[in-house]
Amino acid sequence: MLDSPRKRPLVFTGGPLDRAGDLRTDSSWLANKRAEDQARILLLWRLQPLLMGAAEDEEAALRFLTVAEGERLGPPDAQEIFLGLNGDAAFFARDISALEDPLLSLQGPAHFRDARGALDVIPLEQTAILGQAKALIDWHARHRFCAVCGAPTMSVDAGYRRECPSCKASHFPRTDPATIMLVSRGDHCLLARNKRFGASHNHSVLAGFVEPGESIEECVRREVFEEVGIKVGEVRYIASQPWPFPSNMMIGCIAEALSDDIRVDGNEIVSARWFDRKTILRMLAGEPVEDVRLPRPIAIAFHLIKTWADE
Ligand SMILES: [Zn+2]
Repeated sequence: MLDSPRKRPLVFTGGPLDRAGDLRTDSSWLANKRAEDQARILLLWRLQPLLMGAAEDEEAALRFLTVAEGERLGPPDAQEIFLGLNGDAAFFARDISALEDPLLSLQGPAHFRDARGALDVIPLEQTAILGQAKALIDWHARHRFCAVCGAPTMSVDAGYRRECPSCKASHFPRTDPATIMLVSRGDHCLLARNKRFGASHNHSVLAGFVEPGESIEECVRREVFEEVGIKVGEVRYIASQPWPFPSNMMIGCIAEALSDDIRVDGNEIVSARWFDRKTILRMLAGEPVEDVRLPRPIAIAFHLIKTWADE
């Protein structure tokens, strides 16, 4: 059995690198760290990280190259970001999406795998490095022009800011907050089937993006009412998880329902129902219950359900 989210790190959290936010804006410090033999680069090709081994391997790890190896592959103008320090060694990520065949000149067994697939095979502590690299590289690729004046912008501050040379506006990497909440009512909790799940029997908790001018608690109450027609009282924060698809921050809560009657919106949510705690515990123990499938343990939804069930 897994521990609660408070004890067990969620995927994309608990990374080993020190982001060195106070040092990385010093471009000469950064250039010196990058020039050291111990510096390493993680390549991303079309948002897929480079892994060790073969594409069919069921266990793998991120493959970090020396700076010289990374540069040799090209392209020379590849976007690079500083990930952080591991001890004294500086780690970077580099976007080589412009290459047609990136493995062509790479020595040794390696492959690129999409980020979701990589999550299943790399060590837990590397998932945070992957999440940070993917979210930042993706942000740069989507924000090459100034949102104020339309001029091309430049990456500065080790990749944590883009600056417009024309109107001097600064643009910062975005993180989009979304609430994800288990609705609880006494000894029952609500699980729903989302339209995205298709014909599968997957059930999960509810979720939705925070709107401008809205608190987390207000967002939880609004989303729950919109999706299943239930009024919510108390909202408790449990844990959060960065989710770099492309740049979400999942804010996990448990929400106390004030009513029982479910009225699904029929738009996002196809069906929803109450499950008692005993049934949830049986499902968490791996017992099949009426073809209902819970979220995978990598998702914060699973941890919310488990936290509630264990309370
Ligand atoms: Zn501008």
